[in-house]
Amino acid sequence: MRSYHFIVPPQLLEQRALRGSAEEREIALATLSIDHSIRAGRIQNTLLAGSAQRLQLAVRRGAGRPDRTVFDAKHRLDTHATSVLRTEEGQPAGDAAANQAFDGLGATYGFYWDVFRRDSIDNAALPLLGEVHFGERYDNAFWDGERMMFGDGDGQLFTGFTSAIDVIGHELTHGVTEATLGLRYLGQPGALNESISDVFGSMVKQYQLGQTADQADWLIGAGILGPVMQGQALRSMKAPGTAYEGDNQPGSMSGYVSTASDNGGVHLNSGIPNHAFYLAAVALGGRAWEKAGRIWYEVMVRRAVGPQAGFVQFAQATTTMAASLFGLGSAEANAVQEAWRETQVL
Ligand SMILES: [Zn+2]
Repeated sequence: MRSYHFIVPPQLLEQRALRGSAEEREIALATLSIDHSIRAGRIQNTLLAGSAQRLQLAVRRGAGRPDRTVFDAKHRLDTHATSVLRTEEGQPAGDAAANQAFDGLGATYGFYWDVFRRDSIDNAALPLLGEVHFGERYDNAFWDGERMMFGDGDGQLFTGFTSAIDVIGHELTHGVTEATLGLRYLGQPGALNESISDVFGSMVKQYQLGQTADQADWLIGAGILGPVMQGQALRSMKAPGTAYEGDNQPGSMSGYVSTASDNGGVHLNSGIPNHAFYLAAVALGGRAWEKAGRIWYEVMVRRAVGPQAGFVQFAQATTTMAASLFGLGSAEANAVQEAWRETQVL
């Protein structure tokens, strides 16, 4: 069973369908309908050719260098388009979205390699495949386990998705989580899965910009919202619930949302572990990936929690990991524990 991870959660599109103009309603419903079809597996994939190609490519190149290919969906709902816009060998494409997707895949690869010596999503040189111009005025981007797919946006709700490298980092990190913790995409483990993608997606952007934790904006998807969306981004890790008008992410357990929709509110309750990471990173100072990011990453690769982990287990695992990396009673271990206390998880 393939898993699909969309950057724009259904509740945001549903809000626009309810509150927006007739045109916004139409475009939001069209995107929701396509997302539903993709989740239900009605948009078919052919994977065998890609897997054979992957083996050859993995042998050919050395570790530390990404192996990217960007395809052109030509506005069709085709998740395995074969028309190539850009490869490692070729020149920049005459297509801004293709070049941005290529650069974002490279920034994500570079972050994981430089900081953690992780060789792509699977730490085994997985080629990074992107596909742009998916659908007509499609207001989403998603990772389908094989490719990073990008809609162009409709220009009103969203202006596009390729320009935000944190969105690309977020999506590819779903692959990293799948390869490490394998967190179930439902309820609290699902919200942790979402949060880990925001945490590493934000760090990809901070690394690219050379920012310290206190310089970063801690937003996810800044700059991709269109003119009718009142706000600045999809999510704020610094101040969950303030990214756009209608954003109702909680930043602590007192606001925890119990809901059946969106796999149990995975894009809502992720605000809680997101905020805990933000608090820990800012308290520790310096660059987020040096300490807080290191702690979160080690929890993942050492599989310190199981696929069904809830917030409390994850909080305990990061606190224990901080103590094991930096010492029992260290400032690092205390800061992580304090972050989870402030968000009312511990
Ligand atoms: Zn996600």
